[in-house]
Amino acid sequence: MKCFDFVIIGGGIAGLLMAYELGEFNTLLIDKEGILKKASGAAGAFLFPKVGFNTKYTEFINSGIVEAVNFYKSVGINTNTKGVLILPRDKRDIEKFKKYEKEITLPFKKMDGGFFFEIGSVVDPSEVREKIKVNFKKMEVKKIYKRKNWIINDELEAKNLILATGYESVIDIPYIKIRPIWGERIESSNYKADGNLDIFYHKNCSVGEIDGVLKIGATHKRDCLECRENLEEAYELIKKANEIIKIEEFEIEDIKGGFRASSIDYFPVIGKIINIEMLLEHKHIVKGEIPKEFDYVDGLYVINGMGARGFSNAVVCARALKNHILENKDLGILDSKRLFIKWARREGEKFLKEINAKG
Ligand SMILES: Cc1cc2nc3c(=O)[nH]c(=O)nc-3n(C[C@H](O)[C@H](O)[C@H](O)COP(=O)(O)OP(=O)(O)OC[C@H]3O[C@@H](n4cnc5c(N)ncnc54)[C@H](O)[C@@H]3O)c2cc1C
Repeated sequence: MKCFDFVIIGGGIAGLLMAYELGEFNTLLIDKEGILKKASGAAGAFLFPKVGFNTKYTEFINSGIVEAVNFYKSVGINTNTKGVLILPRDKRDIEKFKKYEKEITLPFKKMDGGFFFEIGSVVDPSEVREKIKVNFKKMEVKKIYKRKNWIINDELEAKNLILATGYESVIDIPYIKIRPIWGERIESSNYKADGNLDIFYHKNCSVGEIDGVLKIGATHKRDCLECRENLEEAYELIKKANEIIKIEEFEIEDIKGGFRASSIDYFPVIGKIINIEMLLEHKHIVKGEIPKEFDYVDGLYVINGMGARGFSNAVVCARALKNHILENKDLGILDSKRLFIKWARREGEKFLKEINAKG
């Protein structure tokens, strides 16, 4: 059986960039469909800042945008950095924007009632796939177990396993719940629009023109695993885009849909996986105590919960997880252990009762 230092399951943007970061080792990326096929293949891959109060979340997103644009440039990917004008959605938002103005940390200019950020960029997932080369195998993972190393489908062996499977899961980790959020977006090269397309826009949706193709995205629908690409949502998007620039004609040539993977607190989820049976020895965690040390499953990691901004979040997360694995650098708010603490407080008692009942 062939043995790898790292096997990463899931060839979306999170898994691809993780495999790239660990390229100096004997690393293999696995996906059942191919590289950047699911949510990552559907993404508009707009890299737009977030406008809001200067919270930890906004800070994480916006520093991530800068890091991502620099990263894509450094590997020769066109970032189409034309700048983005972020506009208030409604009257309430106009009032909020007045407060946000003092909170924004990225360079911006006031424009047409909104904020213009020069950093606003867009990458093309197919160019990312082409330029970021990693060792890849197309395979659906159906069976995983641990001996000395991890065994995958009785076919491959890995010293370390990294789960990057988006909204799907291959190993049940009770404290990590990833919610699927459906989205679709549309494209056309056959359109007529009256407006300045030298820059990108974001209001109730994102709008941008690249190489003669007008891209509009995206919709958001929670808890809708039965959702599929549909014209109704596509027309809704055209209506929303019309609130930004006047669209006289738009022949829908392509609808792309997929399920984003979101954590319960919207921050990505990365790090080592905790052995939940540690609750048996550390029952006080259930009462809210945070242990000094955690009991981790040997050689098992996660990189998930990229939300609606996978093309920037994954750049930051893959680097952070690499530094964590190799140098034990702290993951801060991104560490999946925050979800373990919450889960233990909420469901720990029940888990302990079930374990005791089993004897
Ligand atoms: C319509 C739409 C528009 C979007 N627009 C933007 C945008 O403008 N900017 C932005 O930054 N983000 C955008 N996003 C979000 C972005 O696409 C996601 O955050 C990102 O793709 C998530 O990447 P991922 O690697 O976590 O998941 P995915 O891309 O879903 O990858 C997970 C992979 O795991 C594989 N997998 C799962 N189970 C198995 C198994 N058992 N065996 C083998 N392989 C398995 C799947 O085949 C899949 O390829 C958009 C998303 C959608 C749907």
